[in-house]
Amino acid sequence: MKASSMTAGTQPLRDDPHHAGLHRASPTEGLAAMTTSVTCDAPVPGQRACGINAIGRCGRCGDAFCLSHRAVSYGIPFDDQCSTCLSAERNTARQRQRDSVSELDRARERISAAAARLARSGLEPHPRFMVTGSKRRGLLGRRTEPVLEPLEPAWIVGRFKWDQQELWNRGFLDTYDTGVTPSGKIVPIGPAPSYTVRDVQGLHREADVLDIANTIEGLADKAGRG
Ligand SMILES: [Zn+2]
Ligand SMILES: [Zn+2]
Repeated sequence: MKASSMTAGTQPLRDDPHHAGLHRASPTEGLAAMTTSVTCDAPVPGQRACGINAIGRCGRCGDAFCLSHRAVSYGIPFDDQCSTCLSAERNTARQRQRDSVSELDRARERISAAAARLARSGLEPHPRFMVTGSKRRGLLGRRTEPVLEPLEPAWIVGRFKWDQQELWNRGFLDTYDTGVTPSGKIVPIGPAPSYTVRDVQGLHREADVLDIANTIEGLADKAGRG
């Protein structure tokens, strides 16, 4: 470490490509840079940098940027960000999105596998019904009772928020006991009798799938041991 830093100390300009570039610049170029203005540092294929007069400096990377290397998002130009940093940021966001999608896909596969194991273990799932209407009962038909249609049963994995469709299509949230069916579907167990499961749209937080995967795997492990 010491030897190399000493070597670098003796020839700092040639070791650093940035300084090497400045070193090679002719006296005229150097003067132009000092007397006029800062030039754009954006990388351009086949060139060291764009070199057009800069209009601002990036708050992230510190590079000067010209009008065409200024970050613009949805038509709105940024005062303090270069286009290089903006596209790097977008790539990172896209990658993060891809990672989380594949993580959720893996969680769904884990859920299906654990549900299949639970089905083989013989552990009874919780029965589920959907309210499809009501029928009159009792003397002179004064009492009504709900008409229930059986749905695929499910093992309970906890309570989770579900998106639900209300009258006039205004969505609302509700928390339900939630289960996993033998076929690996995540389902609400039983909304209050006045609701129908048909109106439940889906888990409100997609990331809850990860929690559910851990829980159902735990259940399957326990049932497998028992
Ligand atoms: Zn930048
Ligand atoms: Zn530029």
